[in-house]
Amino acid sequence: MSRVALVTGGSRGIGASISLALKAAGYKVAANYAGNDEAAAKFTAETGIPTYKWSVADYDACVAGIARVEADLGPVEVLVNNAGITRDSMFHKMTREQWQEVMETNLNGLFNMTHPLWTGMRDRKFGRVINISSINGQKGQAGQANYSAAKAGDLGFTKALAQEGARAGITVNAICPGYIGTEMVMAVPEKVRDSIIAQIPVGRLGQPEEIARCVVFLAADDAGFITGSTLTANGGQFFV
Ligand code: NDP
Repeated sequence: MSRVALVTGGSRGIGASISLALKAAGYKVAANYAGNDEAAAKFTAETGIPTYKWSVADYDACVAGIARVEADLGPVEVLVNNAGITRDSMFHKMTREQWQEVMETNLNGLFNMTHPLWTGMRDRKFGRVINISSINGQKGQAGQANYSAAKAGDLGFTKALAQEGARAGITVNAICPGYIGTEMVMAVPEKVRDSIIAQIPVGRLGQPEEIARCVVFLAADDAGFITGSTLTANGGQFFV
């Protein structure tokens, strides 16, 4: 029996690699995305993985989107909360909108996606929830008070929910990537990127596939004793 996996932000960047790796591992995969129709259509055409458009920041849209996925593929057993955005600014210049947008996608999005799936996972006595947090949620990052706060919140959510799901066969874990060579990171000025790379002991950015590998590990049926954990994958940059 192949399990159904839903990856938010699953058609680009790290999410696309996660979708592909789960498919390669035998899962039936659905990839959600927010607005980039062109990238999503290309991804589906190249991989055969269906893509579904809605915003994880909108609870009702998540409920409706999940219903579409489940009608097409069956009950979602593996949820990867990967969708995320940045709205960087030093705090004295940060607007309420920048704060709010990041909270709504990067933190509230986890509630909006996990809550509608939780009862089904409990009833079926199986579930895997994997939250993509960030090194900057662990250590904090100047210019990212909003992002760091949301990503740290993801870790608290992970630990609390892991305790609630434990007896129901649901594991809840987080992955904290370091700097990965996706559009999100390639968008920062080259000089800044070079200074970031200089701080990474392995001397390079990570690859999206290296995060996808962590997801496949945590999603597996025989990973049932790993819950409430934070898996860091950051080239040795920071350790907790
Ligand atoms: P990208 O910007 O490359 O891709 C982001 C994906 O999230 C896109 O598919 C986008 O959809 C989707 N998305 C954004 N907002 C929403 C929303 N409201 N609803 C649904 N989907 C949404 O990001 P990365 O691949 O770099 O990052 C993926 C995750 O990893 C994020 O949570 C990020 O914070 C985290 N991370 C990334 C690091 C890095 O170095 N890149 C480091 C640490 C953590 P669309 O294609 O429609 O725009």
